[in-house]
Amino acid sequence: MKSSNSNWTLPSMALAVLAPWMLLASALGTGRLYEGQPVRPPAAGDLTSFSALAPIDAHVHLYKDDPAFGALLERLNLRILDILVIDDRDPYFKALEPQRGDVLKVVGRTAGRAVLCTTFSPYEFEAPRFAERTIRQLDADFAAGAIAVKIYKVMGMEMKSKAGQWVMPDDPAFEPIYQHIAARGRTVVAHLAEPDSCWQPPNPASPDYDYYRQNPQEYAYAHPAWPSKAAILAARDHLLAENPKLRVVGAHLGSMEVDVNQMAQRFDRYPNFAVDTAARVPYFMLQPRDKVRAFLIKYQNRILYATDLDVMPKDDTGKALVAWNSTYERDWKFFATDQPVEYGGHSYQGLALPGPVLRKIFHDNAVHWLPGIMGQR
Ligand SMILES: [Zn+2]
Repeated sequence: MKSSNSNWTLPSMALAVLAPWMLLASALGTGRLYEGQPVRPPAAGDLTSFSALAPIDAHVHLYKDDPAFGALLERLNLRILDILVIDDRDPYFKALEPQRGDVLKVVGRTAGRAVLCTTFSPYEFEAPRFAERTIRQLDADFAAGAIAVKIYKVMGMEMKSKAGQWVMPDDPAFEPIYQHIAARGRTVVAHLAEPDSCWQPPNPASPDYDYYRQNPQEYAYAHPAWPSKAAILAARDHLLAENPKLRVVGAHLGSMEVDVNQMAQRFDRYPNFAVDTAARVPYFMLQPRDKVRAFLIKYQNRILYATDLDVMPKDDTGKALVAWNSTYERDWKFFATDQPVEYGGHSYQGLALPGPVLRKIFHDNAVHWLPGIMGQR
């Protein structure tokens, strides 16, 4: 959500598994799962070994309170970090409510399998007592169970000061807030910048082509006055350097999706930095397999599996369940097996990562970087 999503959940692909899934979806929708035996997934794909790891999806946007999602999490033995976003260009995301209330309902409904990642509005950063008020709000969210705080790409790609300057994520106005998050032992989830293609002319071969066609207001190429991607990432890196005690998970591969070496460089420099894979798994496919595999093995403590799956309150539950299941199936096949995985009309061989590395990427790293994800707070 609010990021350039991959074609991972293409309707055409979903249709292929739609028929058997509609049966399950309707069973889930009526809540019958709670009364009877757990439903075995239909034969569309095998997620038994995925579920055996007690997988954690470190980046989703589930805003719909429907018992079917709790049943899905239970069946897959899955936990999720359920993330709020503030973006004044979208009515639902303009303010903390109603999204915070919606996610708290999901949290309450899923027996702790969904955990809240809150956020704050950066737009009032020049208002009096901005940091103090933000800290008070965050403390209330922490008391309500939030384990992390999202910061968003409007820093660097939308916001301007009253004096007309672009507002970057390392602006001094945010520093007391970062310090407070670190002092409270919570994590920052940082979606800053966007894929390189956001600054480039439209290219139908790009995984993000459709997203920027549908969201021209977020397409940097159409806004030449915006800061460069390099400037935004430099501000992000400065934030990491200034706050060595703050754990930061860079969403969407930290927007360093085209070359794993860019991530390696930052991991070597900033021990407080990890990334999630949300909506960027295809970028691993587009790079040489051996290089990506060696990178994931070398930096196996720094990568958190994540999808960016999203469900708005008005969305159809059955369709969402199809998309979620097919995303987990394809991602698991790609990371865990050497079988071919289809993406964008091409076939890519799976990475067949060693078992201990899979365990870190799909479970251990989230436990380490997102304390509280297992509900121990
Ligand atoms: Zn997201």
